[in-house]
Amino acid sequence: MNVNLISDTFTIPSKEMLNSMMEAKVGDDVFKEDPTLNKLEERVAKLFGKQAGLFFPSGTMSNQVAIKIHTQPGDQLICDHYSHIYHYEGGGVSFNSGVSCRLVEGSRGLLNKDQIEEVINPSDFYHSPPTTLVSLENTSNKGGGACYNLETLRSISLLCKKKNISIHLDGARIWNAMIATNTNAIDYGKLFDTISVCFSKGLGCPIGSMLLGSTETIKKAIRFRKVLGGGMRQVGYIAAAANYALDNNIIDLVKDHEKAIELGSVLKNLSYVDLVQPIDTNIIIFSLKAECNENDFIKILEKNNIRLIQLGKGKIRMVTHRDYTNEQHQYTMKILSNLKF
Ligand SMILES: *Cc1c(COP(=O)(O)O)cnc(C)c1O
Repeated sequence: MNVNLISDTFTIPSKEMLNSMMEAKVGDDVFKEDPTLNKLEERVAKLFGKQAGLFFPSGTMSNQVAIKIHTQPGDQLICDHYSHIYHYEGGGVSFNSGVSCRLVEGSRGLLNKDQIEEVINPSDFYHSPPTTLVSLENTSNKGGGACYNLETLRSISLLCKKKNISIHLDGARIWNAMIATNTNAIDYGKLFDTISVCFSKGLGCPIGSMLLGSTETIKKAIRFRKVLGGGMRQVGYIAAAANYALDNNIIDLVKDHEKAIELGSVLKNLSYVDLVQPIDTNIIIFSLKAECNENDFIKILEKNNIRLIQLGKGKIRMVTHRDYTNEQHQYTMKILSNLKF
């Protein structure tokens, strides 16, 4: 038994997915001549009700290009203090766009309209950086997979329109949010200027993200993607994996969420666990009692062939995914329950 709960990025393409990749018709995407990718970009854009889509090798590059499009050097964007764009994209916001982040302390990575309105710099006050972008994350990674409700998103989107500020969604795990809140892609498309989605998280693809937006926006995105070195050639092989995942794998996220809830219930009953954060999707964040050492805990689990990671500040994370099987799940719950610590 080899259990990996570190991230939903550890999944390996299934045989069926690999077969569909092998059969893909391909061309040179730098010339926009890859038929499989062209179809995928159209498909996902339509799914979200956007005019166009552009494939990216990573969600980081897709987010970074969106930020570049919506801002000018010296501008400021607003995001939650847990945001991936702030913590985990190598400082790209300042490196690529020359933009600062106004961090807001939301609830589990989620912001509301009032919190955002409060920190928008007045456009006529030249002492402060112009606020030109609000970037939200759904689900919130560092927030433990927390999901927005559509009402909150609607009110934030309306505020941005009123203030003439662009709004971007980092939807790396939007598929999980859609399953958990029973919402549709189209609901989100209406509310954001750009949306970045990933195929390489819960959906089980080896590689791939996509930026969605208006025709005009995606035209700009092609240029910035090229600048960053993200123009690729026979992408259809990877696009075929995403097509396969969209056809077959979204519904399976339900199982990941169920397993996460079950793991959470087991953790709550353990004497050495202090707090288990609410579980909305496939991410479980918990902490141990003060007298317990997280490093030791993780080492003991590793000895039992179960891998997970620390998030710092005493937090430990587990992420369920499609390669975390029922058998592994039963095994993990047994090991956790019996662990003397
Ligand atoms: C994983 C992730 C990304 C993109 O990550 P890449 O590894 O660059 O594909 C972006 N945002 C969030 C919230 C993520 O969890």
